[in-house]
Amino acid sequence: MADNLINQLSSESLERLFTEQLISWDVARNNYKSLEKVSVKELYIDGFLYRVQFNPARIVSSSAKVDNASIQARRCFLCGENRPLVQKGLTYTHSSRPSDEFVVLINPFPIFPRHLTIPSAEHKDQLIEGNVELMCALARELPDYTVFYNGPKCGASAPDHFHFQAGSRGFLPLELWYGKVRRELVSQIGNSIIWRVLEGLYGTLQVESDSPDFISSVITGLISQADFSAGDSEPMLNLLCWYRDERWTLHIFIRKKHRPDCYYTPGDENILISPAAVDLGGTFITPLEKDFRKISENDIRSILQQVCISEVELSDIANKLKSIM
Ligand SMILES: [Zn+2]
Repeated sequence: MADNLINQLSSESLERLFTEQLISWDVARNNYKSLEKVSVKELYIDGFLYRVQFNPARIVSSSAKVDNASIQARRCFLCGENRPLVQKGLTYTHSSRPSDEFVVLINPFPIFPRHLTIPSAEHKDQLIEGNVELMCALARELPDYTVFYNGPKCGASAPDHFHFQAGSRGFLPLELWYGKVRRELVSQIGNSIIWRVLEGLYGTLQVESDSPDFISSVITGLISQADFSAGDSEPMLNLLCWYRDERWTLHIFIRKKHRPDCYYTPGDENILISPAAVDLGGTFITPLEKDFRKISENDIRSILQQVCISEVELSDIANKLKSIM
């Protein structure tokens, strides 16, 4: 396994990794090649652009069984000993956490032109608390990417193995219009600001800050006052983070449901869609062509309303957050 790791993370080393992997790994090469001619359609939800990507290779992730029994029964695909031998990676360790090693891997089932999976070297649960600074550090190390996190019950297909993902900057519709949405100030401390989004995005808080400590404290605050089920480790959250002009922007999508009703509906009404950070960031993934063809603005609006918390719930959470920040 040590042979598969290269001790550096930089734009150059990532580019070398992509070049090498697309030569040596057939699955990755074929899927990145397919992505170049993937069908995409554009829809407007409340005036904001969303895209739908028809991506058959994502069927594995969209239909992944993530209940405890299924997870226990499978071999973890993010553990080093179970990954394909041909899959190489770059090691990444943050200076403040030298014992926490990560491996930066090419995602062989891409949505983005450049798509990374960044698992912990150690098999441990998907859990954001205590790891927000790492997310910020990765976003700074990867200026050409948006780094994202899917909670264990709302999008992660390996809820038992801690990981982030990252995808090419400039790809998500969210990047085009996040500064244009109407939003309300929740809290401002120095240069750090928390916003509640009022349109275009559902169930969303945005944090802009030059301090990873502040960003981390927002997540800790959210978790401390959130109402989530006993036995769960955290509320359902999808996070998207980028670093531009020496500041981080974090989008926090607060969920109330993993999969929408249409995922389970039999017959013609069925749409196999399992929303996670990328979908909420404006690019919905349909692995089946029938769904790609039929999905409409109304379907996407309905899915967003079902899986994200309501405006009233978000307002309540924002008020609680305000009182503790
Ligand atoms: Zn694992």
